[in-house]
Amino acid sequence: MAERTLQVTSRLGLHARAAANLVRVASQFESNLTLKRLDGNAEADAKSILSILTLAASRGTDLRIVANGVDEEEALDAVVGLFSRDFDETEKVDGEKFSRAIKELRCKGLGISDGVVIGRVLRLQEGTRNVYRAEIAEADLDREQRRFRAAVRLSRRQLEAIKDRAEKELGRGHAYIFDAHLLFLQDAKLTRDVENYIVRERSNAEWAAKVVGDRLLSIYTQINDEYLRERGSDIEDVIQRLLANLTGEGPKYPNLSEDAVIVSTELLPSTIAELNLNHVKAIATDAGGWTSHMAIIARGLGLPAVVGLRDFYQRTRTGDSIIVDARRGEVILHPSRDTIEQYRFTVHEPVPTERKNVEGGPVTTLDGVEISLRANVELPAEFQAVNEFGACGVGLFRSEFLLSRPGLMSSEQDQYEAYKSLAEAAGEYGAIVRLFDVGGEFGSDVKERERNPALGLRAVRFNLRNKQIMRTQVRAILRAAAAGQLSLVIPMIGDVADVRLAKRLIDEEVERLGAEKATFAEVKIGAMIEVPSAVLTAEKIAREVDFFELGTNDLVQYTLAVDRSNDKVSDWFRTLHPAVLYGISRTVQAAIDAKIPVIVCGEMASTPAYAVLLAGLGAIDLSMIPALIPRVRNVLSHIKAEDARDVALRCLSAATADEVEEMVRNEFNARWPELFPPSALPKIPESRT
Ligand code: PEP
Ligand code: MG
Repeated sequence: MAERTLQVTSRLGLHARAAANLVRVASQFESNLTLKRLDGNAEADAKSILSILTLAASRGTDLRIVANGVDEEEALDAVVGLFSRDFDETEKVDGEKFSRAIKELRCKGLGISDGVVIGRVLRLQEGTRNVYRAEIAEADLDREQRRFRAAVRLSRRQLEAIKDRAEKELGRGHAYIFDAHLLFLQDAKLTRDVENYIVRERSNAEWAAKVVGDRLLSIYTQINDEYLRERGSDIEDVIQRLLANLTGEGPKYPNLSEDAVIVSTELLPSTIAELNLNHVKAIATDAGGWTSHMAIIARGLGLPAVVGLRDFYQRTRTGDSIIVDARRGEVILHPSRDTIEQYRFTVHEPVPTERKNVEGGPVTTLDGVEISLRANVELPAEFQAVNEFGACGVGLFRSEFLLSRPGLMSSEQDQYEAYKSLAEAAGEYGAIVRLFDVGGEFGSDVKERERNPALGLRAVRFNLRNKQIMRTQVRAILRAAAAGQLSLVIPMIGDVADVRLAKRLIDEEVERLGAEKATFAEVKIGAMIEVPSAVLTAEKIAREVDFFELGTNDLVQYTLAVDRSNDKVSDWFRTLHPAVLYGISRTVQAAIDAKIPVIVCGEMASTPAYAVLLAGLGAIDLSMIPALIPRVRNVLSHIKAEDARDVALRCLSAATADEVEEMVRNEFNARWPELFPPSALPKIPESRT
C-alpha cells in the first residue's frame, strides 16, 4: 500500500468534468485508489465519478490518496500529476455555473420587515417537515445512529410495498422508479455519510440526513449528464421519506440550533403555523409580496424577511451560511469573511420595542379626536403582545391560522379553547374573530388549486360552500363569547346577499345552541369590506351588520387587480392609489352615516404615515401589528386630525399613485418634519425613476 497527500488547486475544485478526467486516469491502473478528505472521514473510490463528486472537494481541500495493488506507485504518480496539472482542463469551464456554490452571492428581493441576521440556511419545501439541528450527547450517538438505521429500514419496507402496488396497478414498466429509490436507500454512500455526520458533528439524525441529502443534491444538479442530473429528484424523494419517518418517530430535542434561516420557494401560512418560530431567525423566499400572509406574520413576530428572490432557493443548501438584510431587501449567500466582518458591526436584529410601561387605550390627537388602536393577531403566540403593546383589544384574529395543516380543520372544542383564551387576552375591549379566510393562498393542496385562487372559492364563499365547517366555527365562537367579549366578522363579503346567507346560518346555530341549553352568548356580526363590489354597495351592507372592517390589503389587490403575493407586479401594488383612497373614504362615510363602527385592519394601518391619512379620511378605529402600535400612537398623538383631513382631501383629488405619494412627501415634510424623516415616507418606486 502506498499513499500521498495533495491539495486541490484548480479554481473550480473537483467538479464533474475534473472528476471525469480523474476517473479516466485512475481506471488505467489495476490498483484500488481511494481518495480521503483530511478534514473529515469522507472518502471516495477514484474510479467512480459519483463517489468522487460526493467528496465535494473545492479549491484548497487537502486529500490523501491511497493506492493498493501491483502498480500502486505508478498509479499514484499519474494521479498526483493530474492534480498538479489541474486535471488537464483545457476547455473553458462555465465558471459562473460551477463556482456558484462557493462564491459570495448577493440577491435582491423585497424586504418586508426590519432587521439583519447572520445565520445558516434551512431549506424548506412545501410539505417538508421541520428539521432542526440538535446537539446529541456523546453517550447517545449510538442510539441516534440506530434511530437512523430504523428509519432506513422503515423507508425500505414502505418503498417495497409501494413498488408491489405499482407493479400490480401500473405494470412492471412503471415500477422501476421505485427500484432506483430502493437502490439509493441501500447505497452506503448515503447511509454511511449520514452516520458519520451524526458522530462527527454530534448531530441529530434528521439534521444529518438533511445536510447529507442536500449535499448530494447540489452535486447532482451540477452534473452535465442529464440522466444523472435527473436522479437528483429521486434523491430528494428518498430524503423526504427518510425525514418523514425520522421526525415521525424521533424524540423531541430541547436544545435546537437557533440560527436557522428558512429558505423556501414559497412559505405557506400553514407551514409557518407549524414551525417552531422560536428557532427561526429569518426568512428568505422566492415568491411573496408585502401583504402576503407570510409577510404579515414575519412582521408581527419581528422576523427579518426578504421575499421575491426568484430562483434563490435552488442555489442554497441546508447549512450554508447566509446573511438576511431585510432593511435593504437583500440576501447574501456564502458571505465572505470581509462581508461578515462588515455586517458584524451593523447586525441589528429587530430591537423589540420597549414593552414595559407602554401606554394603553385610545390615543387622542392634538385637537381632541380619539382613535382606537387595536391588535391584529394570527397565532396564539402573539396573544400576549396585545397587552404588552397597549392595544385596545384585538381588532382582527385571523382564525385560519388555527388550521395548521391544509385540509385539517380543528374540532369545535379546540376552537372553543382558542377563542376563549383570545377573549381573555383581549380583555375589556374584546376581540373580533374572523371566520376562516381560507382558499386563496391557503389552498395548498396542489391538485386542488384553482386557476385564480384569489378570485375563487375563498373566505365567505368557502364557508357558504362548506357549511359544516362554518357551523362548527360559529358554535365555537358563540360558546366562547360566554366567557369574554367576542365579535365575529365575515371575510370578503361581496354584497348584501353574502351577508344574508351567512347570517341565516349563524342564526340557525344560535337557535340550536339555545335548544341544547348550551352556555353561549350572541355576538355582534361584522362584514369585511375588501372588494370593490362591497365598497360600491357599502350603504346597503351597513344596514345589515353591526360593524365594518376595512381590509386594505385585499382592497388594494382587488381594486387595482394586482396579486398581493406576486413579486413581479409589486410595483403596481400601490396602497396610496387614489382609487384605493376613494374606496376607503366611501366605506368610512357609509359606516358613519349608518352609525356603525368601521375598523381599518389592513397593513396600511400599521404604517405611521398611512395611519395619519386614514385618520384624515375619518377612520378613528385602527387595527395593526401589535409591535407597531407604539409608533402609530406616537405619531397620532402629535398631529391634529384637522390637518390630516386637509392632506387626505388633497390626496383624494390626485389622479395617480405617484401624485398622491408626491403630495404625501411634500405635505408631511412641510407639516411634521420631526415625525416623518424621509425614510418614513413613501419612496419613489425604482421603475419610475
Ligand atoms: C386585508 O385584506 O386587509 C385583511 C386585513 O385581511 P388579510 O390580510 O388577512 O386578507
Ligand atoms: Mg383580506
